[in-house]
Amino acid sequence: MSTTLSTGIQPSVWIGCLACYNAGRLVGDWYDADTADLVTPEDLHGRETNHEELWVMDHEGFCGVLEGECSPSEAAELAEVLADLSEDEAAPFSAWVEVYGEQSERAHWVERFREEFRGFHKNEGHFAQEWAEDTSQPEDQARMQVWPFNAIDWDYAAQELFSGGFHSEDAPGGVYVFCPR
Ligand SMILES: [Zn+2]
Repeated sequence: MSTTLSTGIQPSVWIGCLACYNAGRLVGDWYDADTADLVTPEDLHGRETNHEELWVMDHEGFCGVLEGECSPSEAAELAEVLADLSEDEAAPFSAWVEVYGEQSERAHWVERFREEFRGFHKNEGHFAQEWAEDTSQPEDQARMQVWPFNAIDWDYAAQELFSGGFHSEDAPGGVYVFCPR
């Protein structure tokens, strides 16, 4: 796992007033998503107002886990989930959420992602070989370097591995490998 220091993921949201929007006026502004739930109608209008409902009409930096519009409190909740992620984790996390996100609560996403992510690899065959080496006994690791173990068709071996629990998602220049529990 990467130990790169990072500022973390800090998404932002454009919060608008729904009443103004429905009247054909765009009243709103960009805010840090983690404090989206604290923004008041008065903040947006710059004065007292009887307009009550605010809505996130645009957003950026959510790693692909937020589609379309949402309430400010939902955006803040998601931002809290993402705050724990490093920049390096953003892309594989996004891939994980797409496949497994619906299977668990958002609050557990990062934890589960970290349990199940097995890294970026050139292809499934490369991962299979690495996995075999990492999970073999020390005395067997030397044998992996000599025939017949050095002649294994790892792409073929990977087919078995990836039909029996492992899963890969396309990534730029390779694949992200996951082992869902
Ligand atoms: Zn308004």
